[in-house]
Amino acid sequence: MGNMRCQNCNIRGPKLFYKKAYDYPKNCNKIKEGDILVCAYCKEQFEESENILKRIIDSRSEFRLVIGGPGTGKTYLFKSLIEDLPEGSKVLVITFINNLVEGLNEQLSQIVGRDVSVRTLHSFCKGFLLGGVHGYEYFPELPKIVERDAAFLEVAFSKGGLSHEIANIEREGSNLRFFLSRAEYYDAVSHNDAVYRVYLYLKEHLEKIPKYAFVIIDEYQDFNSIEANIIGLLAKNNKIVISGDDDQALYRFKSASPEFIRDLYKNADTDKHFLVYCRRCTAALVKATDAFINKAEKCNLLKNRIPKNFKCYWPDKFDDSRNNPKIILGKCSTDLVAAKYIKKRILEIVDRERIQPRSDLEPEFLIIGPSKISHYLRDVHKVLTDANDINPDIYEIEYKKERETITVNDGYELVKENPTSNLGWRIILYCDHPDADKEKEIIHESLNGKTIAELLPAEYRKKHMDIAKSTSGEDGKKPSEGVTKKIRIRLTSYLGAKGLSANHVFVLGLINGILPENPYKVSDDEVCQFIVLLTRARRSLSLIVCKSFDRKKKISKENLSTFVSMIPRQLLEIIDNIRASDVR
Ligand SMILES: [Zn+2]
Repeated sequence: MGNMRCQNCNIRGPKLFYKKAYDYPKNCNKIKEGDILVCAYCKEQFEESENILKRIIDSRSEFRLVIGGPGTGKTYLFKSLIEDLPEGSKVLVITFINNLVEGLNEQLSQIVGRDVSVRTLHSFCKGFLLGGVHGYEYFPELPKIVERDAAFLEVAFSKGGLSHEIANIEREGSNLRFFLSRAEYYDAVSHNDAVYRVYLYLKEHLEKIPKYAFVIIDEYQDFNSIEANIIGLLAKNNKIVISGDDDQALYRFKSASPEFIRDLYKNADTDKHFLVYCRRCTAALVKATDAFINKAEKCNLLKNRIPKNFKCYWPDKFDDSRNNPKIILGKCSTDLVAAKYIKKRILEIVDRERIQPRSDLEPEFLIIGPSKISHYLRDVHKVLTDANDINPDIYEIEYKKERETITVNDGYELVKENPTSNLGWRIILYCDHPDADKEKEIIHESLNGKTIAELLPAEYRKKHMDIAKSTSGEDGKKPSEGVTKKIRIRLTSYLGAKGLSANHVFVLGLINGILPENPYKVSDDEVCQFIVLLTRARRSLSLIVCKSFDRKKKISKENLSTFVSMIPRQLLEIIDNIRASDVR
């Protein structure tokens, strides 16, 4: 059979092996049942990947560490771990951000007979605190209110300082102490302080640590000290799997540190495992990522990195890898041309791949831009929404702008429920701010324990109580729609791209000055950010750069990101000089 082709990847092999067709769901002959003949490469990769999974599941260890790069099947591992538990088992899955909760929930909450709860650590703490420890009001914007109070009281306080002190458990921190005293007055908690309160509580009440059949932690590299400590407390009372990847640590600016996962790895007692096969990215993207990491290490970056293998899982990715052998580097004359070029490429891809609207959570196209210079995304959004050939019945363009801030309705809701709610009246004052002197006086008086309701003029209180009573709770909240079938295009920032993937990805703004901010002083955070950008696509990745105009010299100049030049040249397909006339 020397000349036969592998029935999975279609390569000619000297020797072929019989394997179950359902283990090769992407096989080129679309065989669903029975056996197929596969090449040695398809056989070995499948078997090695199964063995890795089996070792993790069969480990008897109460504490397992799983290091896995982008797209290496952590969700599949979690699913297998949960399915291995007896029926009726309660499982807690904690991940880092909401982006990741959605996807995990879709996969894990449907496992029959197991009670799986997927949460961010913040939402877990909030639920724990409000569900049993204390009936605080949850108000995520509380730090903003406290910041305004601090200004009136001439106390030094900053939201950043507060986050830093909580992240590092600085119990005597001045920001934290001031914040907690105000939070008591308002009888409220917000995001980070909920975590802080839960940490203190559990540390003193070890017997109250919730008990699960299994606790699974995802994205551990992005947790900070207090979060790692809470996970440590959960591990005292539970069987736990901690997973993460120190190459994707993006949250150092929030006091997170990849050193927590590196410490676990260095500990000789830890039961360590590696997921090496990437089932998301093409061979070209995996090679580019690997080469980029190597170069970064040679430049003395990513010190203390956990050494790891990162391989493209050929049995699933042969087709996408062949159709997309290179990363596209499109060089456009202006920002507007870049936006139009992306639109043109989207339409070409939809046509070539005969893409149909789907109801999947994952978008078909992901367009990623720097948040600092967000005109990139705004331009693309405008071009896409204005285009006649992007039919809104077929396409859905998702572009989430910055989150909303405090609205007066938040206050009305609270005072309707409780007419003496300090938080409720404080929010109304904050939004309405009728008179700064009066507001200042009220805040000063509040230190003596008086309620804000007592301190407000009667007519002011009556006026706003009347409005509060006339507002209905459902204002502004649309009934949630089911997911309709659409070709989904999602626009997001570099940081927002974490945890997302799509068949086709466009990245904007890769110039020195943006990423990296300073090519002579590159940070690990930026290196990790670029790794994340390189590993979002299942099929094609296009890096779109524009020339910037030097007003003094009156010339356009190219200022390509150092990071892009660290990708091996042979993995790039450069499309030079894209002009307005090319994208009409
Ligand atoms: Zn093969």
